[in-house]
Amino acid sequence: MQRAINFGAGPSAIPLEVLKEAQEQFLDFNGSGLSIMEASHRSKLYEDVHNNAIALMCELYAIPEDYDVLFLQGGASLQFAMIPMNLTLGGKIQFVDTGVWSSKALKEVKIQGLNVEVVASSKESNYDRIPENIVFDDNADYAYITSNNTIFGTQYKNYPSTKAPLVVDASSDIFSYPVDWTKVDMMFAGAQKNAGPSGVTIVIIKKSLLERVSESVPTMLRYKIHAAENSLYNTPPTFGIYLLGLTLQWIKRQGGIKAIEANNEKKAKLLYDAIDNSNGFYVGHAQKDSRSLMNVSFNIKDKNAELEAKLIKLSVEKNMIGLKGHRSVGGLRASIYNAMTVEGVQALVDLMQSFANENR
Ligand SMILES: *Cc1c(COP(=O)(O)O)cnc(C)c1O
Repeated sequence: MQRAINFGAGPSAIPLEVLKEAQEQFLDFNGSGLSIMEASHRSKLYEDVHNNAIALMCELYAIPEDYDVLFLQGGASLQFAMIPMNLTLGGKIQFVDTGVWSSKALKEVKIQGLNVEVVASSKESNYDRIPENIVFDDNADYAYITSNNTIFGTQYKNYPSTKAPLVVDASSDIFSYPVDWTKVDMMFAGAQKNAGPSGVTIVIIKKSLLERVSESVPTMLRYKIHAAENSLYNTPPTFGIYLLGLTLQWIKRQGGIKAIEANNEKKAKLLYDAIDNSNGFYVGHAQKDSRSLMNVSFNIKDKNAELEAKLIKLSVEKNMIGLKGHRSVGGLRASIYNAMTVEGVQALVDLMQSFANENR
């Protein structure tokens, strides 16, 4: 068996150790004679898995006591609709527009007929940066940002400060650096990029925000219900939560979130250096001070589509997958989430360098 070096944007690479552990335990979880997939979500067997995943997340991510951790379904995309349903007070909602995902989230607020404003956008420059000097109104119902822009390869280095509750879509950079919770009131992420398989959505929300929801919001769409029921109001995605727990244990074995961050910085530097030292053969999409440590989007000089296709074809021959860029940027995108190894990135850098030498 040869495992592919997976640069896919999502669902994406899962640490090999995690997959092996799940494989070992697949038929007989902890001597129970069951796969964890077959266990009742009301059983002690499953409840321990569930509660351990929450406890480990709180420990590793240093989540303060006045927040709840929820496991929901429907992906990050359902959160785009649930957030305004749960957090509106009938006032103003404010957004920063940094690309496809924030635009989709904005659309769901508009569908609900709520009052929403874009306070900053980088649309003019095809979302190649995080806008500077973002100012939210302190009295907004909430402020909304996308911490990492998966398609354009941009990322906030610091979250904006505001007295309004800040909501962060961290679908593509959750657990990749320590979070300053004094700045964040709600964070959410589909698990499938940096935290495990698809099917689980992580919501970390300040308890005080749970009280805002009106009784006219359907039961399953209220954070308050899921918080009161410890995300066991109905059947949760048990196998995905189990794998999320294994992924968190793996993060702990790596030395925790700070160690993960240091490794992510090292990987990103290798790739960005390869771009910057290519004498203009490779051109990064993001402005330098907005560069993502998770998704590196780049083109070949003059957006040469023929050479880009040739490089992607060669990468596949070298066992690398998922490097084709999103159509809105073209070129290539290397997604180097927590589970990507330094060796994997080095293999890509080696290929990029030899390709540039042969084709410039
Ligand atoms: C992938 C992604 C989403 C969409 O996630 P789904 O779980 O597929 O709904 C939302 N936001 C960001 C930043 C993403 O990268």
